[in-house]
Amino acid sequence: MQVTAAKTPLSKKSKERLFNSASVPPEKCIFCKIVNKELPSHVIFEDNEYIAFLDNHPFNEGHTLVCPKKHGETVWDMSQEEIGGLFMLASRVSKALVKATGADGFRFVQNNGEAANQIVPHVHVHTIPVRLSDKGKWLDRKKLPPEDMERIAQSIKGFIE
Ligand SMILES: [Zn+2]
Repeated sequence: MQVTAAKTPLSKKSKERLFNSASVPPEKCIFCKIVNKELPSHVIFEDNEYIAFLDNHPFNEGHTLVCPKKHGETVWDMSQEEIGGLFMLASRVSKALVKATGADGFRFVQNNGEAANQIVPHVHVHTIPVRLSDKGKWLDRKKLPPEDMERIAQSIKGFIE
């Protein structure tokens, strides 16, 4: 059996970048536009380095994206400290959104590369509240009215510690 380099998962040849046909420079990145307030979003939290805002097509009410403000496509573009800060904020956000939505648990989903279903090429951690009734189910994306999104955002904001 012939094994090609592309199919060898533990190739010694290290990859510097992961393939994503949606790759864009920062000036064309929709999350950079949200960071720069060129696009509207329902912001839950922001400081100098990070921002958290509602996903426009949530798997569940309260589904939040936590991002570094600095453009980078995958966690490989971030320092260890930056990755640590990103997940520390995701953890804070998870507590707030579970309290705000009355969820029973939450998911962190962090996709890197097109093969992982990464759609927006700017690092983000999906923080998704889930209920016991969601257990074992595949969740579909939803579209909520803007007034509901704003109400949820304000509610989560109030629980950020
Ligand atoms: Zn970006």
